Amino acid sequence: MKSRVKNMAEVSFINPLSDEGRSIIREYGDLNQIFDVDESLIDICTHTLNQRISDDALIPKSYAELAMKRIQWAIEKKNNKNFTQAEFEYLANGDLFKQDVVTFHILCQAIAIQFNTGSRETRLFIESQGTLILERLAKIPPMARADIIDEVLDEIKTDGAIHWKSLRDIVASKKLKLTDLLIDDGDIILQQEDFLYRFGDEFTDRSPERMYNILIGDSVKEQIISRLIMQKTEEYINRIKEMSQRIEIHPAIIKIGEDLKEFIPEEISKYNQYYAGSGGIYGSVQAGKLNPDAFPPCIKATVEGVSSGGRNDAIVLLLTSFASYARLYPRIFASDETVKVSDMDPDLSITENEILPLIFDAADNCTPPLFDDQPQEKINIISKLGFGMHERVDINHEGETKWYTPMSCEKIKIHLPNLCHPDKSCKGINNPLSCYGRKKYQLDQEAPKE
Ligand code: SF4
Repeated sequence: MKSRVKNMAEVSFINPLSDEGRSIIREYGDLNQIFDVDESLIDICTHTLNQRISDDALIPKSYAELAMKRIQWAIEKKNNKNFTQAEFEYLANGDLFKQDVVTFHILCQAIAIQFNTGSRETRLFIESQGTLILERLAKIPPMARADIIDEVLDEIKTDGAIHWKSLRDIVASKKLKLTDLLIDDGDIILQQEDFLYRFGDEFTDRSPERMYNILIGDSVKEQIISRLIMQKTEEYINRIKEMSQRIEIHPAIIKIGEDLKEFIPEEISKYNQYYAGSGGIYGSVQAGKLNPDAFPPCIKATVEGVSSGGRNDAIVLLLTSFASYARLYPRIFASDETVKVSDMDPDLSITENEILPLIFDAADNCTPPLFDDQPQEKINIISKLGFGMHERVDINHEGETKWYTPMSCEKIKIHLPNLCHPDKSCKGINNPLSCYGRKKYQLDQEAPKE
């Protein structure tokens, strides 16, 4: 009985949307307590094997802090070259399953009400859930892992089978090959019981159990579990979003959503190669880098991701020219010269390491991500920088096309009206680049001198 209870707990640690996970949520009670200090949470985190505890700030003190730490982990894992697992080891500690399930549901709800489906923030959370599942499974001893995998799969197969079409994305992502899957009548055969039922009689000269172990490896099942739970998380977030139009949202969830809106860009900006900070510990980055605090509203909106019909023009025409001139030659409109990118960036390292990553990230923030359905737009971006119709910037192709200058406010208002919401920084200017130059100059004057 004891091991059964333990097993159940671990199932909800892998799949927080399981029945077990749902009953934990029902029992949790008043959501106001998520901001309270929780001694048992602190105790489990500090006693996690290999957890670094030298700095008190590494340990979450409340469920709300645990939620932020999960997101911080996701951002650091993806972006921080010096990511330290020992700072987040508790996230893989199964003793934390109740706190983890509650935090997962809090985050799903906060993300659903605060961000668009398909937004950078929503995708970050869903992807991190998939990664967390794989990491947690990897830490469970093999025998127990096999049991948990089977239990989780049993529950996920709501319609009695997993159809190969539901795994289209994972096959497309090349994490799994279709040939790794054993498919019978469109159903994917993953569990031993199912395998023996369908094929048991086919093996006369060798043990069907052994054939099962050879044909269906654990890593295939783990990938499938991770992917299916990601998919279910996405569906869950979409359902909450729909429901949020009709029902009142708890203030604690609204507060977490607002905190995430500030926290995520702040954390991500620590790892951007292309921005200079406007103070704080990142203020010492070399001069000349782009300062996002000086971006006019139309550029801020484009960088955050565009979901309207103007998506392609916003990235390919507006942002490509703006980012390249703002970084390399902001005085273009005050100059009579014809310039090339390589005049300012002879080895093209700024273009490759700062300008293109900014544009490509913004393309990725679009809904749907720009290159997912229109990969050829990458070539159009390269061409707008003056390097012809090619996939990469190459000095030998420079001049095949023209370095496109930034659109005027007038043109933006006509072609991309959704992006133009002028604020006081736009007063009296006729181009986003001039707006940026003026604001950046002001911010540079205000910044404390070193
Ligand atoms: S007025 Fe010009 S700079 Fe300001 S948001 Fe509109 S297009 Fe952008």
